[in-house]
Amino acid sequence: MGAAPSCRPICSSGSPRSTTRCSPARRRPLATPWCVARCTLVPKGSGTTRLPRSARHGRPRGELVRAVFDAHSTEDLPGTPVRAEGEPSTGDPAADEAYDGLGATHALFLDAFDRDSIDDSGLPLEATVHFGNAYDNAFWDGSRMVFGDGDGQVFERFTRSLSVIGHELSHGVVQYSTNFVYEGQSGALNESVADVFGVLVEQYASRQSSDEASWLIGVGLFTDEVEGDAIRSMSDPGSAYDDDVLGKDPQPGHMRDYIDTVEDNGGVHLNSGIPNKAFHLAATGIGGFAWERAGRIWYHALTEGSLTATATFSEFAAQTITSAQTVFGVESPERSAVVAAWDGVGVAVEAAEEGVAPIDTAS
Ligand SMILES: [Zn+2]
Repeated sequence: MGAAPSCRPICSSGSPRSTTRCSPARRRPLATPWCVARCTLVPKGSGTTRLPRSARHGRPRGELVRAVFDAHSTEDLPGTPVRAEGEPSTGDPAADEAYDGLGATHALFLDAFDRDSIDDSGLPLEATVHFGNAYDNAFWDGSRMVFGDGDGQVFERFTRSLSVIGHELSHGVVQYSTNFVYEGQSGALNESVADVFGVLVEQYASRQSSDEASWLIGVGLFTDEVEGDAIRSMSDPGSAYDDDVLGKDPQPGHMRDYIDTVEDNGGVHLNSGIPNKAFHLAATGIGGFAWERAGRIWYHALTEGSLTATATFSEFAAQTITSAQTVFGVESPERSAVVAAWDGVGVAVEAAEEGVAPIDTAS
């Protein structure tokens, strides 16, 4: 069991130790990097600005409808509209990156998984940029993506990373499928699934194979001042950054290093490194484009209806093996790769290993 770091700034004024560790040239960030890209869930059916179903009907399936808003450095949502679907570039990089990122995410889910937007019913996609004053985070608020500008000393604006945009919207996909409870292992699965589809958005947009991909979440978010490549690494959890102000990336990549903590909703951004690494192992074990097979297996597991909102790593692992068997067959190399992947991160999958899944729809 690893230590339980705090989901708070590592440096704080008033502590002599912190004063010496913090560079005077760099202000402490409002959020530690591993807390970035959080999910702020609202109770189901309340507080969302979702359009009623009738308002979405009448449009062709798969039609993309985006809207970007500007909060003008306030925390008022959604802010003022700045770019609707089909409108030209605004000239504001944050608004245009958000617009393009919404489109790239929609494209992955539609093209690779035949999913019609976040809710599979054509939900219009909304984003708000310039949220708060030098706000050091991005989040899904239950109905839209919200992006801060960063403090400019540790974090750049959060729309710079396509994987983070994909991550936020994928929290929406989770909300409309398993709705994993945002605490403990189910919360870490919520975070991990958002990372999985976040990197797939980036890989699909660049048509990168699993061998070519960086497997990093949030490239481009750190300023040049920071010693780090990104906020998380799926191929090598715990290696994304190692910085005198931020500390070292604390993510584990194996169950032997699982972090028991009450911080961060029970380590949802920490222990997500374990299922993240499992996906990386499955995708690279299978080879090719990750969205075509490993991604399809994870998507099937998420949406086929068996997983509960409080699923554990082991239950999720078992479902991915069942899904691999359902989609590709019991003797398939895809199923073998998924079994090996969970074994590689120390997650036990007893039920699935006993071969409980019927072979009914192999294709
Ligand atoms: Zn998140």
